[in-house]
Amino acid sequence: MKTVWRTMWISCLLAASAPLLAGCSLLAPFSNAKEGKTQKEPIAGAPSKQVLRVSQFVFLSDVEMHREQPLFKDLSNLREQVYRELRLPPASTEVFVYLFEDQAKYEKFMKAKYANLPVRRAYFVAQTGRGGAEDLVVYTYLNERTQKDLRHELTHAMLHSVLKNVPIWLDEGLAEYFEVPAGHNGVNAQHISAVRQASDVKFDLDRLEHLKEVHQMSPAEYHEAWAWVHLMLRSTPQAKQALLSYLQDLRVNPEPGPLRPRLAPAFVSLEQALQAHLAELHRKLPAGTTARQ
Ligand SMILES: [Zn+2]
Repeated sequence: MKTVWRTMWISCLLAASAPLLAGCSLLAPFSNAKEGKTQKEPIAGAPSKQVLRVSQFVFLSDVEMHREQPLFKDLSNLREQVYRELRLPPASTEVFVYLFEDQAKYEKFMKAKYANLPVRRAYFVAQTGRGGAEDLVVYTYLNERTQKDLRHELTHAMLHSVLKNVPIWLDEGLAEYFEVPAGHNGVNAQHISAVRQASDVKFDLDRLEHLKEVHQMSPAEYHEAWAWVHLMLRSTPQAKQALLSYLQDLRVNPEPGPLRPRLAPAFVSLEQALQAHLAELHRKLPAGTTARQ
C-alpha cells in the first residue's frame, strides 16, 4: 500500500576509520510498515527528557543541555554560515536532532529502527510521511567528534530543507566542506593529503555526477566531491557563480541536469584547475601537517 511505502533519504557521515562502510544512500522507496507515526511525535527508544531549540534545530537528549554551550553556539553559527555562503534563503523547517548519551544506546536504537543501515557515528534522515510533509531528523551520540559530525549532518539537513533535490556527490561535498570549523575556510587537511597521495587519482566530475547509490561512494569519492566543492567556492568568482546558480535551480527544479558544463567555462581545463587548486591548498597547510592528520 502506498501509505506504508515512503521515500527516504539517508545520508551518513564518512567514517575515516572504516572506509569500507563509507557512503550515503538514497533508499527509495523504503518499506517501513511498522511506522505509523511522524517523526514529530515521540520516537520509542529515542532520547526525549531534555529539549533545546536552537534556531531551526530541535535537540532532544537524556543529558542536560544548555544553549550557552559552545556546541550549540557553533551550530547556530553554522546555519548562518551555510545559508550565507551558498546564498540560500534561511529555512525555518524544524530539524530534530536526537543526541544519545552513549554509543551503545545509539547503536541499539538504530539497529532496531533502521535494521538495514550500516553502522555509522551519525545519520541524517529525510523522510516523507503521510500527507507529504518531510521530516528532517539527525541521530548521533555524544563523543569527541560530535561537533564535526553534527556540522556535517546538519549541513545535509539545511540543504534538504531548501532544495528540491541534492545530488549525492554535491550533498557530501558540501557537508565535508562545512564540517570543518568556520575559520578553516572549508579546508580539510586530511582530504588534501589523501587525494594528493593517491597514486591512481583521476578527477572526473562527470563520473561523480552519475553516482546515485551509497555503495558507489567510497572515501575517494567523498574526497573528490569535497575538492570540487572547494574549487568552486574558493577559487574564482566564475566558478563560485556556477555552483550558486546551480543551487538556485535546485530550489525549484529537482533535475537541473549536470553541473560540469556550467563550471567548465570557468577554466581552461577543469581537471588541471583542480590539481592546481589542491597543490596550492597543500602549499598553504601549516607546517607539520601530515597525511595522517
Ligand atoms: Zn554525509
